[in-house]
Amino acid sequence: MGAAKKIEIPVSITVRDLAKLLGATSIQVIKILMMNGVMANINQTIDFDTAAIVASEIGFEAIPEKLEEEEIEKDNGEVPLWRQIIDKEDPRSLTSRPPVVTILGHVDHGKTSLLDAIRNTNVTAGEAGGITQHIGAYQVEHKGKTITFLDTPGHAAFSAMRARGAQGADIVILVVAANDGVMPQTKEAIAHAKAARVPIVVAMNKIDRSDANPDLVKKQLSDHGLIPDEWEGDTMVVPVSAKQRQGIEDLMEAVLLTADSMKIEANPKGRVFGTVIEAKVDRSKGVLATLLVQNGTLEMGNVVLAGNAHGKIRAMFDYKGKKIHKAGPSTPVQIMGLTEVPSAGDIFQICASEKEARTIVETRKAEAAANKTKDKFTLEDLFKRAQEGEVKELCLVLKTDVTGSIEPIEGELQTLNKEGEIKVKILHSEAGAISENDVMLAAASRGIVIGFNVQPDPVAKKKAEDEGVSIRCYNIIYRLKEDIEKALKGMLEPEYQEISTGKAEVRAMFKISKLGVIAGSRVLEGEIRKGSRVKVLRNGEEIHKSEISSLRREKDDVKEVKTGLECGIAVKGFESFEVGDILETFTVERFGS
Ligand code: GDP
Repeated sequence: MGAAKKIEIPVSITVRDLAKLLGATSIQVIKILMMNGVMANINQTIDFDTAAIVASEIGFEAIPEKLEEEEIEKDNGEVPLWRQIIDKEDPRSLTSRPPVVTILGHVDHGKTSLLDAIRNTNVTAGEAGGITQHIGAYQVEHKGKTITFLDTPGHAAFSAMRARGAQGADIVILVVAANDGVMPQTKEAIAHAKAARVPIVVAMNKIDRSDANPDLVKKQLSDHGLIPDEWEGDTMVVPVSAKQRQGIEDLMEAVLLTADSMKIEANPKGRVFGTVIEAKVDRSKGVLATLLVQNGTLEMGNVVLAGNAHGKIRAMFDYKGKKIHKAGPSTPVQIMGLTEVPSAGDIFQICASEKEARTIVETRKAEAAANKTKDKFTLEDLFKRAQEGEVKELCLVLKTDVTGSIEPIEGELQTLNKEGEIKVKILHSEAGAISENDVMLAAASRGIVIGFNVQPDPVAKKKAEDEGVSIRCYNIIYRLKEDIEKALKGMLEPEYQEISTGKAEVRAMFKISKLGVIAGSRVLEGEIRKGSRVKVLRNGEEIHKSEISSLRREKDDVKEVKTGLECGIAVKGFESFEVGDILETFTVERFGS
């Protein structure tokens, strides 16, 4: 396998933009995300690591896009951007900060319950009733040390959690239900944490259940590279019951031990930046954004810039809803004052003035607009990408009469993609007649062109013939789907093409008793062979099709007659020749995909 092509991907990107960047359809991206346990819609923002998984499925190697031209150098593809920023700080100015922890795991294994249990078990002294408001993150104290948790509401938003976790988490708590063991999303979580180079502490939850089987779970974890410390490995596996609030202290202990073995540092006086955890609009307060400060100290009155959102901080609250004026590294804060709602996962920074923030936003918007037109559809690019991939797919170019038909057809076709089988890959889809470009695109990737309620224009038709590209037109979606399905299974009737091998013109007719009417002809092109298939053309129209039953030169039977020579031709089942008829011999060849 050749090295995957590198592609720059921003720290966060919408599904739609990622699809464009990768030359894929949004449906494809959504499908890949789904296969990886991430439910996302087309407008949803996903983080770099998630995008990287998608990119690799499509055959690219993702590298993080540089953040700000002059401020941050190109990413080396291994160290997350935020760590690189901290690495730029003077080492002497770095001080330790609370570890930021996120909880991952399979659906129903108890992520939410565990977050609740931790929140309620470890509330700071004197705080009755626990924390009632949720801002997407909270902090707990354990033995005088603070831990920041990225709090995810419910398991459905696995992608959102990834968006958060990957940007800011130092440690992942992997929840595995002791009665259920390692499940698909557990494996995904392990892969994500490993990709982000974030250490894992396992919370073996539901230990209270009678069907809990801790040894089996440990064995499964070992099989996935997480060898429990009691088995001489380096993964801490802590039995807990979120429901009965058992083992929570031990889990906190394990997190702090893990943190101790890492360098979890930042410069509280350094450049201020961090990640947007979540944001929403409140009717009376305006935009409320939860930010995780990762370096520097965020202060009241600072001008914050996150994505295209910016504004002066008018009020700042901690996770308990208490007004604060300053927030140092690893502190989650909720701020008021942004002009619009930033996306979860956006990196924020501070600007010297609102004017500067506006200028940067304008530049970003202009760049985004420029990229849009650039990405739109360069044939060469698509050619290259298609060619570089291995042929594990049936490549299609889809043309439809109206834009509205594209998504349903793509959706139907995606349902055909099964694990381990040849997959449908839609190279390009667009409304409009089938053009020469479509044919060329299909040709380059040995694909076919599908028309839905559209036909090829004459130039495209000619090109398809020249390039051996198959064009198939449909007006019923299920027929289209059925055909593709057959093609995937290799059952589709191949399409055949007649290749002309010779042409002769009828000059005179003779009747020969044994043979019937013979066409005295002159060979104009190629050669005429006995036994060849032949068409009789009159004024360009085919009037008969069969084969050459007799071929003579003078009185001798011959096998072939070349251009420029005269001969007598008998055509099986046809005698009513006319002077000027063209006898065209041909072979039949399979073409297309
Ligand atoms: P999530 O999907 O990972 O967020 O899982 P939830 O926290 O929603 O929990 C899923 C189900 O498991 C709920 O019905 C919980 O009550 C139950 N559950 C969670 N933790 C425990 C536990 O420690 N013991 C038992 N017996 N049930 C638990």
